[in-house]
Parts: sequence; structure tokens; C-alpha cells
Amino acid sequence: MNLSFLSSSKLREIIVNPNNLNKNLICVICEQLVWDPNECSQCQNNFCSICINEWLKKKKNCPFECTKRMQLNAPHRILRNQISELQVKCVNKGCPKEMQLQNLESHLKQCEYIETKCPYPDCLFKDSLIKIEPHKTSCEHRTRVCQKCLETYKVKDNHDCLDIVIKKVKKQEDQINKLLRRLDCLEENQVLLESKILLQQRNSKK
Ligand SMILES: [Zn+2]
Ligand SMILES: [Zn+2]
Ligand SMILES: [Zn+2]
Ligand SMILES: [Zn+2]
Ligand SMILES: [Zn+2]
Repeated sequence: MNLSFLSSSKLREIIVNPNNLNKNLICVICEQLVWDPNECSQCQNNFCSICINEWLKKKKNCPFECTKRMQLNAPHRILRNQISELQVKCVNKGCPKEMQLQNLESHLKQCEYIETKCPYPDCLFKDSLIKIEPHKTSCEHRTRVCQKCLETYKVKDNHDCLDIVIKKVKKQEDQINKLLRRLDCLEENQVLLESKILLQQRNSKK
């Protein structure tokens, strides 16, 4: 089971019965649900990899005082199964679903409580997906497409098709004027060039 979509603190937060955890699921160093477990090859107790690596920087032996120098193994299948069967709550605020940890990732792909942004561009509102639909109907930034001029406009603004048409015409006029000015410029250049060529031809004939 891949838990990379969760952090250790998030997982510990969503456990349904954190006080009834099976004892072998608790790391004796941090006294919390073991995260990324490593098993002592002698006593078979499990520790978070972070915890035990910190521990072994200072000491050579297992926290349970096993006699040999400590060797770490991957956790036993039974422990992995116990972890994947842990009862957890959905991580999304407001979601009432509880499930086994191994089903959380697939639940999150279809959870209706996932935090979602209002789709209207100027709106910063965020909430669970299930609350976005009702918000959209009253969002002050909601937009509408005018059936007459096909322009998108904000519902709170007054929309006047004529205004839009005037603005569009004005914009086109501006563009036409720009093009005309460029054309003028090009023509001037051409006249200049032609006169230069003429002058050169005359000079060469002399
Ligand atoms: Zn730990
Ligand atoms: Zn040990
Ligand atoms: Zn959910
Ligand atoms: Zn909105
Ligand atoms: Zn319109």
C-alpha cells in the first residue's frame, strides 16, 4: 500500500480510534502509530524509520535492549496488513465517510468533499465540491452569455448589447487606423526609395 499521498501527522489525525490502537502498531520511541516501519530482527518490534535512525545515531542497541547489535528488517506482512486495515476518516473537511486505510486513496478520487475552487475566474471562494454548486448560483462573480450578442458578462454588471457593439466597433476602428498609419509610412518609404534609385541612375549615367 502506497501512502505517499498522506503525511504521518495527517494519518495520525484521521485514525478513528487512536486510543485503541493495537500495541504492536505503536512506535515506542515516539509513542504514536508507527510510520514507515522498520522491524528489529531480534524482538520483532517495529519503529518508525525516522525514530529508529535517530535512536541509532546515539545508541547501538534496540530500545528493547536486544543483546545483539541492532539489525533492521522490512516490516512483517501481518503488520502491513494491520496498518492497511486501520479504520480512518476521510481527510476532507465535512466528509462523513469512514473506511479502511487501504481504501482511502480510491475514495479521495471521488469524494464530494474535496476542496474545490469556484470556477468563475474572479472568485476566490473555495469549499467542498458539494457546496460549490449552490455557491455558483449566487456567486457575485458569476457570468452569463448574452443570447443576442454572445458576449460573456458578469451578472452583477449591467449588460447592454449596444454598448458592447459600440466598443467592438471602436476597437476595430482603432485597428483600422493603426493599419492605415502603417500603410502611410510604407508608402513614404517607397517614395523615398524610388527617388534614391532615380538619383543613383542619373549619377551613373554621367
Ligand atoms: Zn516513532
Ligand atoms: Zn529488538
Ligand atoms: Zn471523503
Ligand atoms: Zn464564486
Ligand atoms: Zn448582449
